[in-house]
Amino acid sequence: MNSYSLGVIFGAVIIGLICGLVPLIFGLKKGQQTMAIIAMFACVISGAFLGALLAIPVAAVFTIVIWSMAHGTTGISAGFPPVAASSVICPKCSKTIEPGTKFCGNCGQPFA
Ligand SMILES: [Zn+2]
Repeated sequence: MNSYSLGVIFGAVIIGLICGLVPLIFGLKKGQQTMAIIAMFACVISGAFLGALLAIPVAAVFTIVIWSMAHGTTGISAGFPPVAASSVICPKCSKTIEPGTKFCGNCGQPFA
């Protein structure tokens, strides 16, 4: 292996890293850490073998996959609870309170 091919591989890895940063940051922001890291590695590996030509579409595909996972359209993150915060019970009078309300409408008990 000569210095030229090493330079090509190094450049391809850098391209893969740059492309991988897109789904990585996106995935971390969306709370899909595992997928973000997989996407990062997939971009680096595809970049190392086939350069930007493959790393860019791989990054794009993973970004879309992370987006759909974060929005529950693939059903993988469907168990994520939006239900838990749907209602609050007043600790003082046990009346059901609308979420986001600062005081109980029934007895005036303040909520944290
Ligand atoms: Zn109350």
